[in-house]
Amino acid sequence: MDQLAKINEQIDLSEAMKSLGQLDERQLKGLMKMLKTKRKKGQSDLPPITGDFYNLDLKLTQEQRKLQMEVRNFMEDEVRPLVNDHWNRAKFPHEIIEKFKKLNITGVPYQGYGCPNLPFLMEGIIAQEIARVDVSISTFFGVHSGLAMGSIYLCGSEEQKQEWLPKMQKLDAIGAFGLTEPNVGSGVAGGLETTCRFDGENWILNGQKKWIGNATFADVIIIWARDEVSNQVKGFLVRKGNPGFKAEKMEDKMALRIVQNAIITLTDCRVPESDRLQKADSFKDTAKVLRMTRAGVAWQAVGCARGAYESALKYTRKREQFGRPIASYQLIQNHLVEMVSNLTAMQTLVFRLSEMQDADLLTDEHASLAKVFCSMRTRDVVSRAREVMGGNGILLEYDVARFVADAEAIYSYEGTKEINSLIVGRAITGYSAFVS
Ligand SMILES: Cc1cc2nc3c(=O)[nH]c(=O)nc-3n(C[C@H](O)[C@H](O)[C@H](O)COP(=O)(O)OP(=O)(O)OC[C@H]3O[C@@H](n4cnc5c(N)ncnc54)[C@H](O)[C@@H]3O)c2cc1C
Repeated sequence: MDQLAKINEQIDLSEAMKSLGQLDERQLKGLMKMLKTKRKKGQSDLPPITGDFYNLDLKLTQEQRKLQMEVRNFMEDEVRPLVNDHWNRAKFPHEIIEKFKKLNITGVPYQGYGCPNLPFLMEGIIAQEIARVDVSISTFFGVHSGLAMGSIYLCGSEEQKQEWLPKMQKLDAIGAFGLTEPNVGSGVAGGLETTCRFDGENWILNGQKKWIGNATFADVIIIWARDEVSNQVKGFLVRKGNPGFKAEKMEDKMALRIVQNAIITLTDCRVPESDRLQKADSFKDTAKVLRMTRAGVAWQAVGCARGAYESALKYTRKREQFGRPIASYQLIQNHLVEMVSNLTAMQTLVFRLSEMQDADLLTDEHASLAKVFCSMRTRDVVSRAREVMGGNGILLEYDVARFVADAEAIYSYEGTKEINSLIVGRAITGYSAFVS
């Protein structure tokens, strides 16, 4: 059916034409004005929904932009349809690992071992794109590609890198990172209770780890333990199936429900010297890994805020109350502007952060500042997003509820607000306020 016939079905065209012919010039002008105003309000004439208000994407090269769009399309097509259901059931969608392989986005900034060796900026952009759809999946990636591969990349011997990094890059082996313990979170630098001792042949590990993402199914788990003799922190590659290793899934989380976090129990867990990370001699080496990954967490926060903002903006343009889209009300616009301001401030900050990382200028305090600022601002963005959606803001099917919950996990992991603030505070004042 052609367009004219379609219109004719809804309006009597000959009657309409007759009426139009009877209008005088003033009436015709009035009609044109009315049509113009009506068209302005049509959804297709509204500005595009984008969380990139300052066009930071324009700073990317064509190739980088292409990769960004590949990740975005993948997340929209393959991951978005799965996430709410899996989040609800606290299940990890293992089938997506196979699909993710084709994107080749693991170990992005590392050199060699089959890794893409792209700038850290691209690692950030990718983290943002993944988190924009789902923070759990970006956490799975952050743990595997950042914390686990990063520990091996920064602290492993050449043999250890050769053994693990190529298969981890291809997602043929999955990694986890075990630092936090039931009794020790913020105080891991000096307080690890998990111990290691060398018996002349093997290292014997004893203790517990808490919150360890991916640990229920990972092939290799990096375990950080305090040497009973030297009191220094050492890192170990604990392989899946080690009889002294047990990982139990933590149930009933209210955030990042897709991530399989575990309590790990190590009971006389024997690890050969060849599986001790050869370049991890103290907590300073663990901290190098955290510095690198904290920058990634800041990008994740940006992705979380962006996903929530875009969903909320879309919703407010569609949802009508009192006969008009709620986006046309001043108080709603105020929320949206607060959201986009925070989002834009975060984006510009992490962009610079990655530039510094690429120029090898990144310090602990730079990474900590970004992590503190972005995780705080994200909390504000997601709560406003939830607010402008009324009751639907707490329903999973509208996506924003998931971002609200997940922002809480970002806020706490990889250093709480207090701990990262203390790191920045020490750097700017010259005084350490950590209690020793
Ligand atoms: C969803 C999730 C996933 C995680 N994944 C992993 C993982 O894969 N691997 C891993 O090793 N860990 C993981 N963690 C652990 C995470 O890094 C810790 O939760 C975090 O470091 C905080 O430790 P905590 O929870 O024990 O809190 P605590 O250290 O007990 O802190 C409680 C409160 O006290 C405050 N506080 C502590 N010390 C001070 C101080 N000196 N001054 C002022 N305030 C202070 C903290 O800021 C916080 O507000 C994960 C955590 C979560 C929630």
